[in-house]
Amino acid sequence: MSYNINEKGYYGEFGGAYIPEMLYPNIEELRLNYLKITEDPSFKKEFDQLLKDYVGRPSPLYYAKRLSDKYNTKIYLKREDLNHTGAHKVNNTIGQILLAQRLGKTRIIAETGAGQHGVATATVCALMGMECIVYMGEIDIARQAPNVARMKMLGAKVVPATSGSKTLKDATNEAMRDWINNPVDTHYIVGSVVGPHPYPDMVARFQAVVSEEIQSQLSEKEGTTKPDYVVACVGGGSNAAGAFYHYLEDTDVKLIAVEAAGKGIHSGESAATSVLGREGIIHGSKTLLMQTDDGQITEPYSISAGLDYPGVGPMHAHLYKSGRAQFMSITDDEAMVAGLELSQLEGIIPAIETSHSLAIFEHKTFNPDDIIVINLSGRGDKDLQNYIDYFKL
Ligand SMILES: *Cc1c(COP(=O)(O)O)cnc(C)c1O
Repeated sequence: MSYNINEKGYYGEFGGAYIPEMLYPNIEELRLNYLKITEDPSFKKEFDQLLKDYVGRPSPLYYAKRLSDKYNTKIYLKREDLNHTGAHKVNNTIGQILLAQRLGKTRIIAETGAGQHGVATATVCALMGMECIVYMGEIDIARQAPNVARMKMLGAKVVPATSGSKTLKDATNEAMRDWINNPVDTHYIVGSVVGPHPYPDMVARFQAVVSEEIQSQLSEKEGTTKPDYVVACVGGGSNAAGAFYHYLEDTDVKLIAVEAAGKGIHSGESAATSVLGREGIIHGSKTLLMQTDDGQITEPYSISAGLDYPGVGPMHAHLYKSGRAQFMSITDDEAMVAGLELSQLEGIIPAIETSHSLAIFEHKTFNPDDIIVINLSGRGDKDLQNYIDYFKL
């Protein structure tokens, strides 16, 4: 069995491009060109150079000694939190803006929920001098004021989505509408391994630099390119896709995907998509998503804005269905405690998304000589107020 995408744009039974007729030309242009462009040596050269000089890659692979001692196993942290803008998302936005330039686009649109992808997009638009429009639900604009300020500071225009629940899915609808109306000069930067083919594969390839670096860094430190486990949190699934990518077909390496259980998997306030989800279509791809019996998408909940998504990308739906990855669900409370623990054991304040991955050690026991790589997807600066309120610090 293959765990990567096939020629038709499917991971097993998941993926594809379920799009309105009006979007067909845009998606087809991308599909026909993305591999040709991104595999061209001049593209790779510019991408690698920017990842090095602008983002600060390679991100370190750090052996977390005190954390390892506590859980009696060997834990490495892949430090995506040290990237420019504080998370892995910029790996993808750099890749997509270079692609957009080569397709002759002059205008960038994106949608954002918590604002992290909006900031990563506004950043690369400033870098390249491109017009940037970010759609964001009206409620999210109010909830995420610091990220709205960052986007404006970077020169982006933030457009409120005022329909429906005024959150992420309404922003997505607005962005789609914009793209249908501006198919020639505009590229839509999608922020995770979601959306119609070729987006999931394209984003996974841009994020694959993470596992490429893990291979060489681990080889230097442990004399092997293969850890026993790779662990990553999953919202849409892009940081996990990047950390898993070069290990997908190598079943010696076990993969653990960590979802947000919110207030408990069956509490009605959760984002544990793989456990609760059923097959359906969201954002143009067939995948697992949380829905009611009559197919309405269920509002997800998590304390971490980045995991608060009702679906997972099609790669992860396939990894779940095939059993290639183990899926674990971590509650708000468990994640917060694990975030505080990492801060005080290692001097690293993680994003709350990432804290979910760190909480698995309370649920699963590893052998003393197991090598575990945790993808530390982002830094916790953006979440400080949440931590402070939660622990009454
Ligand atoms: C956005 C975000 C995530 C979730 O997105 P994925 O596409 O699942 O990676 C996880 N961690 C951080 C720090 C984020 O900003």
